[in-house]
Amino acid sequence: MAREHFSSACPEPSALTGPVRTCVGCRTRAAKSELLRVTVGSDASGHAAVVPDPQGTASGRGAHLHPTTECYELAVRRRAFARALRYTGSGAGLTSTPLGEYLTSSAP
Ligand SMILES: [Zn+2]
Repeated sequence: MAREHFSSACPEPSALTGPVRTCVGCRTRAAKSELLRVTVGSDASGHAAVVPDPQGTASGRGAHLHPTTECYELAVRRRAFARALRYTGSGAGLTSTPLGEYLTSSAP
């Protein structure tokens, strides 16, 4: 008698918790709902910048980050935003100041 083994106890984590994304700061996988989506936008002076996308509705390539200053600083140190967002512009590059301000102002 053949028995089916594939349906035994080994559920995909994503089947239980929904979509999972990797934080670009600490590189830990977490539920998408726990992470803040960020995209490439522009800052107040029109420079390319990493901007928060709390609703997750902005078009274009996004990256995901725990909404904490710790993960933000890790990502900045690693230049993870430009890599994750496939930003290829030159010059001053991608500033992440708008996101930093967003995280600082929304922190308790
Ligand atoms: Zn993180």
